[in-house]
Amino acid sequence: MYASIIVSVSASDVNKVFEYKIPDGLTDFIAVGHRVLVPFGPRQIQGYVIDIKNEVGYDPSKIKPITRALDVKPVLTAELIKLAKDLADYYVTSYISVIETILPAALKSKSKKMLSLSEDSTEQTEVIWHGMNLPPKIEVKTLSARQLAELKPLIRRGEVEEETIITQHTKKKYARALKPTFIPRGDFGRAYKQLELLDFIEQYDEHVLQSEVIDNGYTQGTINELVKKGYVEKVDVVSGRDPYKSRVFEEDLPKELNAEQQNAYDKISHSVDHDLAETFLLHGVTGSGKTEVYLQVIQKVLDKERTALMLVPEIALTPQMVNRFKARFGDDVAVLHSGLSHGEKYDEWLKVKNQQAGVVVGARSSVFAPVENLGVIIIDEEHETTYKQQDRPMYHATEVAKYRSKYYNCPVILGSATPSLESFARSERGVYTRLELNHRAVTKTLPETKTVDMSEEHRKGNTSIVSEALREAINLRIGRGEQTVLLLNRRGYANFQICQSCGHVPNCPNCDISLTYHKMQHSLLCHYCGYEAGVTRECDNCDSDDVTFRGTGTEKVEETLRDMFNVDIVRMDNDTTSRKGMHEKLLNTFENEKIPILLGTQMIAKGLDYPNVTLVGVLNADTMLNLPDFRANEKTYQLLTQVAGRAGRHELSGEVIFQTYNPEHYAIELAESNDYAAFYEKELAFRRLARYSPYYFHVLFTVSHEQVKKCLEATTHIHKELVDSVTDKAIIVGPSPSPIERINRQYRFQILLKYKSEPNLIDVLHKINEYYNERYKKDKLSLKIDVDPKYI
Ligand code: ADP
Ligand code: ZN
Ligand code: ZN
Repeated sequence: MYASIIVSVSASDVNKVFEYKIPDGLTDFIAVGHRVLVPFGPRQIQGYVIDIKNEVGYDPSKIKPITRALDVKPVLTAELIKLAKDLADYYVTSYISVIETILPAALKSKSKKMLSLSEDSTEQTEVIWHGMNLPPKIEVKTLSARQLAELKPLIRRGEVEEETIITQHTKKKYARALKPTFIPRGDFGRAYKQLELLDFIEQYDEHVLQSEVIDNGYTQGTINELVKKGYVEKVDVVSGRDPYKSRVFEEDLPKELNAEQQNAYDKISHSVDHDLAETFLLHGVTGSGKTEVYLQVIQKVLDKERTALMLVPEIALTPQMVNRFKARFGDDVAVLHSGLSHGEKYDEWLKVKNQQAGVVVGARSSVFAPVENLGVIIIDEEHETTYKQQDRPMYHATEVAKYRSKYYNCPVILGSATPSLESFARSERGVYTRLELNHRAVTKTLPETKTVDMSEEHRKGNTSIVSEALREAINLRIGRGEQTVLLLNRRGYANFQICQSCGHVPNCPNCDISLTYHKMQHSLLCHYCGYEAGVTRECDNCDSDDVTFRGTGTEKVEETLRDMFNVDIVRMDNDTTSRKGMHEKLLNTFENEKIPILLGTQMIAKGLDYPNVTLVGVLNADTMLNLPDFRANEKTYQLLTQVAGRAGRHELSGEVIFQTYNPEHYAIELAESNDYAAFYEKELAFRRLARYSPYYFHVLFTVSHEQVKKCLEATTHIHKELVDSVTDKAIIVGPSPSPIERINRQYRFQILLKYKSEPNLIDVLHKINEYYNERYKKDKLSLKIDVDPKYI
């Protein structure tokens, strides 16, 4: 017997399938979907069995045998194997890259590295790791004395438990000083923060938890700089924790649906009852009770002994959503969470695989959850760009969901108050069935919204970031003990440092972007590559000492608000939430302690449902309008509508204020009047004229290399390949520099292909992709092909 195997070699090696002999003792054991270890050149590597057959087309004596199986039960089903193949074709990527996206990180071949506590523990920890998924004859061993010794300080501090280290799998990171005694100061320049951090780490005799380092005011960026310089090392260790174990959820009973909800529920039910792979667009204003519809549809699916998959844009941002699911379905819910460690994720994955959970809630990659017998797939806030993966494979969760729904003959529900233009257009054409919820479930009315023209505000002499109207409205809330949510889509303190003599702005040396000033760390940070520089008093360019900071970020606005209102403020941005669990902690503080103001970047725009929030203010509604992206208007409309939707969701009615320099822009005007239909028409006209989606499909080619010349050569070549092979109806835009021309020392150039129908395109894309995979090995020139890109 022989097995066709996809091996886990570098993702750039395209779709090759290798054949191996199944050893006699394993013929009854190894099945399609198993992970196996196979000889590959001089190495032993991991592979996945995708087919089993009795014969091979060439000399069987030349075929090497499989070394051993890595699991008791196959980890991939036939459905997922086929899905991987089709996605690899569609998104022009390798089979293996999709397979390893489908599986939890712990099962990928890299997982050994993640688990090794020290060099001598490879084989042993691998065995421990796989826990209940072990091949028959291998025993589970305990940790070695040395491994335990390494963990002792953590155990003493109660960070991990001895038993749980062995049976459960949580990753904890800690940094350890490697060269504590001698520090050549030249390595640091002005990076005092790094030296300070090194001193801090050295206080601990062996190692310190990374979270503790961050608790003490240091950033991930500073730690990374020290790692890069070789002064500290990050090591992963194992411990055990169920993130939801200690939590008690109040039971939540189904609510009686209103007429609109009932209608939506009935239509979806019909599809569930008749095994129809129908896609619904549930277009419901914020607070209209979409979630209640999801919950009741899922209940129905569970009653039919089928399973449900529920996707949310980002679980960390929507703890309330998880709580509602846990409250309704209890332990029947598995949460696949990007904030979980690899080990925790694996636990949840196994729970799903072993059919111990009927409902799976998770972010984008959960669309691959190993559920069988699916009864419904729900994608909440379907317009969110997080559903599109930005690395290979660059898949969109909605496409995967529709694919799986066809396999299981079950409906897909796409829910949003602000559907993507593409989805709405499909509902207009009847490809999707549209269901409307036009009224809020509790208050019945949407918040009252108004726009403040900030140019006029300046003319009247108010140069503050807070307009008079907003200031009054906030004061009113403070007086009444109600709460305000403020959006500022920009983190950091000031946007940039500028020399008032020569106009010089310090840029990141690796990227084509200015550095952002962060006051707490007193440093300039690159938001793209994490580069950190000290703040200088003098201009690097002209030595003038007339340097100042311009623009405002959340950190600075927090200060301004404190001075203005003299109240407590919760600030939520990437800086305050980088630690695991901090989102939820900050939101709980905001809710339970009735903190008057929540200030945050767009992470506060989604999912929050607090009865006491009656005012939402957007400090600068224009930030997204200026993005170099044809979806800038759409993203502006969506963000404004979503954040406005946080106000007055319950008994108290709400008010919303948008501050803008473009009060007449239709994205802002129509968000103010909450008129999705008008926005859709207007935006669609623009898309038609500019020949963008949903009228055209797109493929974006991005080439990157350290040298501009190489990028130009490659894009010119791709341009020629496309001209030679597509029809004259297709439009090729470029080559041109990407919006940010250099990131991480790499120049980036792009070509955008727009087309309506190109039957041969997929073959052309694969040909170009293979050519550049080979090129990459030679001169590190990298090509990214993004099919249906979300950012252009
Ligand atoms: P959406 O998901 O559309 O933003 P939610 O499902 O969060 O809306 O509903 C908003 C609020 O209305 C929630 O507090 C929810 O409990 C409540 N709600 C939803 N449907 C009903 C209903 N049929 N009866 C009473 N309250 C409801
Ligand atoms: Zn200067
Ligand atoms: Zn950078």
